[in-house]
Amino acid sequence: MDKNENYLINLSQKHPHELEALRPYAEENNVPIIHPLSLDMIKQLIRIHHSKQILEIGTAIGYSAMHFASVNQDIQVWTIERDETMQATAKENLANFSYGSQVHMIKGDARETFEDVQDKTFDMIFIDAAKAQSQKFFELYTPLLKEGGLVIIDNILYHDFVADIDVVRSRNVKQMVKKIQKFNTWLNDNPHFETNFLDIEDGLAIAIKGESK
Ligand code: SAH
Ligand code: MG
Repeated sequence: MDKNENYLINLSQKHPHELEALRPYAEENNVPIIHPLSLDMIKQLIRIHHSKQILEIGTAIGYSAMHFASVNQDIQVWTIERDETMQATAKENLANFSYGSQVHMIKGDARETFEDVQDKTFDMIFIDAAKAQSQKFFELYTPLLKEGGLVIIDNILYHDFVADIDVVRSRNVKQMVKKIQKFNTWLNDNPHFETNFLDIEDGLAIAIKGESK
């Protein structure tokens, strides 16, 4: 790991949040929860932007959804997950950490759950599910984002592979990395969003709706 990154992670973990109790579980069970500095960045954006209604695609064990909700009691998070084991663990975690009134689970494949949220308007959308599908999720759900709202996409640099696809051996991974590259280019060229791509941990994109170039 990068020295600076390591230093900042240690600094930020001096006073760990109670939800950090979930990190060892995630690591042992290979659940790809968001990296700590990316999470800190998103939580700070939530504060700056005063986001209240948040949509998350990819709940896993509820770690990031609860962290977002923890910023402020007025925040409501709707979060979509297709995997039944994850759904069950997330449900338990929401109850154990008392976030049941702020975090709402939507069970199903995010390509098919638009109707569950179509009556809502969001201030922020966090895309963190199957990486090859990020563009699909973006196109499907951003009509529900208010003007000036944020879309945050995790893993846009996927394991350093997006910037250096030649080192990828596996055909499947290569295909996924190509999709991420295509998505990044498409988003960068999208006239309806102003996007900032960050080289922080696994890569984070922050897009603002309606700030056309
Ligand atoms: N946001 C979480 C981590 C999510 S990991 C955190 O940082 O704490 C990605 C999750 O997305 C996995 O649990 C996976 O099952 C889920 N997922 C992948 N593709 C999906 C889809 N099409 N619809 C819903 N969930 C999906
Ligand atoms: Mg992620």
